[in-house]
Formats: sequence, C-alpha cells, structure tokens
Amino acid sequence: MKINFADLSAQYLAYQSELDQAIKEVLISGKFIMGPEVHQLEAALTQLVGCPYTVSCSNGTEAIQLILMALDLQPGDEVITSTFSFIAAAEIIALLKLKPVFVDIEADTYNIDADKVAEKISPKTRAIIPVSLYGQPADMDKINQLAAHYSEVHRHKVYVIEDAAQSFGAMYKNRRSGNLSELATTSFFPSKPLGCYGDGGAIFVSDEKLAKKIASLRVHGQTARYMHEYIGTNGRLDTLQAAILLVKLKYFDEEIKKRQTIAARYSQLLNQAAIILPLVKSDQTSVFAQYSICVENRDHVIQKLNESGVPTAIHYPIPLHLQKCFANLGYQVGDFPVAEGIAKKIFSLPMSAFLTETQQDYIVSVLLKAIQ
Ligand SMILES: *Cc1c(COP(=O)(O)O)cnc(C)c1O
Repeated sequence: MKINFADLSAQYLAYQSELDQAIKEVLISGKFIMGPEVHQLEAALTQLVGCPYTVSCSNGTEAIQLILMALDLQPGDEVITSTFSFIAAAEIIALLKLKPVFVDIEADTYNIDADKVAEKISPKTRAIIPVSLYGQPADMDKINQLAAHYSEVHRHKVYVIEDAAQSFGAMYKNRRSGNLSELATTSFFPSKPLGCYGDGGAIFVSDEKLAKKIASLRVHGQTARYMHEYIGTNGRLDTLQAAILLVKLKYFDEEIKKRQTIAARYSQLLNQAAIILPLVKSDQTSVFAQYSICVENRDHVIQKLNESGVPTAIHYPIPLHLQKCFANLGYQVGDFPVAEGIAKKIFSLPMSAFLTETQQDYIVSVLLKAIQ
C-alpha cells in the first residue's frame, strides 16, 4: 500500500481543474509580482482569521523576521521562545543579533509552558514568541497577560508574536489562531495545514501603523517607488502562490474537519497504555499539522513502520537549546527536562485530509504490532 506522509498529490487531483485554471490566469496576466491575487488573498485571510491587517510574505521564517525588524529592537535584547519547535523563530532572533531565551514545554500539549515563561522575563525581554505546536494554540491568554504585566513593570512594551505556522485555522476560545495576540505569523509551506506549491507565509497585525511598516519592509523598506524609509528586504509572496492559496482556502475548513476526524479515529484505534496520544485542551481545537504520539521504544516502532511502507517523521529530535548553532548561549543537557524527554519519545504518523480509512487501518495495524 502506498502511503504518503502528507498527501499533496491527492489534494491536487481533488481540486485540479480549479488550480490549473487559477495558475493559467496568472500566467496569462503576466503579473507575477504583487498581482491582484496577492491582495485578494490578504483580504480573504483577514476575513478568516479576524485580525485587522494581513501582510503576505515569502515564507513563515521571513514572516518572523519582518516582524522583529519592524519592532526596533536593540542588539542583545531578549526574545523568549519554546525550546521544542522548528528552528525558525530562534534562528531569526539570533540572526537579528537578539538573544534567544528558551523555555520548557507543557508535558501534555508540548506547547511553551506559560508559567515558566514568567521565570525567564528580564528587563531586557522585548518579545515572546509562543509556537502553537502540531496545530494547537499555545496558552495565549496567559502569555498576553504576562506580557502586559511586564510591559508595565519594565516600562517598555513586551510584544507577543504567535508562531501559527502549524496551527493556522485552529480555534482558541472561539478565536482563530493568528488572532490571539497583537502579532502572529504563519507559513504556507506545502505540507502545512494550508500549503501552497512552494514557499509562502503571512503576518497578522492588529496595529495599523505596524502593519504598514511591515508591508514596507517586505518591499525593501519602500513607502513609494524608490523611496526607502527603512532598511528592508525582499519578502514578497509570489502571485502564483497567492492564486493557488485562494483555491485551497475554499476547501480549508472542510479539510480541517477531515483532519480532525482522522485524528479522532487514530486516537480511538491507538488508545492503549503504551502510547501517549495527542491532548487537545477543551476550549481549543487542533488542525493536526502533525499527529504525534509518544512511545518508549520509538526507534524500533519507526523502523517497523518504515519497513512496512509507512512514512514517519520526528518533530523534533533535538530541542533547540541543545543545537550546535546555539552552543554559545551556554545551555546544558538537563536544562529543559520536559522537552528533552519528549524529544526522545515523540514521532508523527501520516496525516492529511486525504488519508483514507484503509490506509489508516493499515498504519494502525503495523503500529500496534510493533509496539508489543
Ligand atoms: C514551518 C514552520 C516555520 C517556518 O515556515 P517556512 O515557511 O518553512 O519558513 C516556522 N515555525 C514553525 C513552527 C514551523 O512549523
């Protein structure tokens, strides 16, 4: 049986005529850079997320960079983020000569532990970037409250930026991920819950002035053609990707429901003591960017799955504080025991809106056999 980790071909075939048409229209129009579809997409994303301003951009990493560039931070200023995540946020913090400050995660959701964030806030803290991991929002209200409190205590703003690359579409207390803090980012990397056919991303902003600055930074800091108010960069989203996303957006909520049904079915079939299943808090939803489970004998289980044609992935094998590129920050093994423990046990099973029950039954049967 052929099983893809994220079935992008099945998705393409499902919407093929609409996607082909949308792509063709862009090709005929010749407007490859900042064509009308880019603005249409931004309007549609604003509508979906509920955040007042959306700035599309070239990818989810660039989205974080454009925000941090816009905030006028000073070298050495501290930005707090989760140690258990994809590297994007931490990498950009360091790239901009700011200091990444890592925090451990909650043992049940794997999201940044808001109580431990408080312990890491210093007078130099200027921003907190919670990552909404695997599709479920981090505890944003708690983190917003902390940031508001310390903004007063330290007399400068502590910004909160949700990295919603994996949680785009998810709900938190009846609000959409991306609209849970003053700033947020997402990614349209092909295998994300909403993916394009290359790189893409978006920034969600509640403040108009900041939104304008970020939009300007995205085009070389221009405020008018060849008038450069800021040192910016090229961070634009291609028109072609916007056109593709506009088609996929029509089916997005339907796909989220399918992913949730598939995740619920996984959890029902895999419900046994030797497997730790994903936990979604009762007042929020997950879009299951990943369906990730923990087992004690992970290497053996993964080997059996892979031998039987079931692809797997490990998100993430090494917490960020133990990555070589951050060795200069001086973290040690044992600093973040929850993340270090989870990193040894977690792995992800195939997940997409197009995974069939037959495929799922096969995955489950191989897994249950391997776990014994
Ligand atoms: C994918 C991802 C990103 C980066 O997205 P790109 O579009 O690949 O740059 C950032 N953060 C998280 C948590 C991600 O999963």
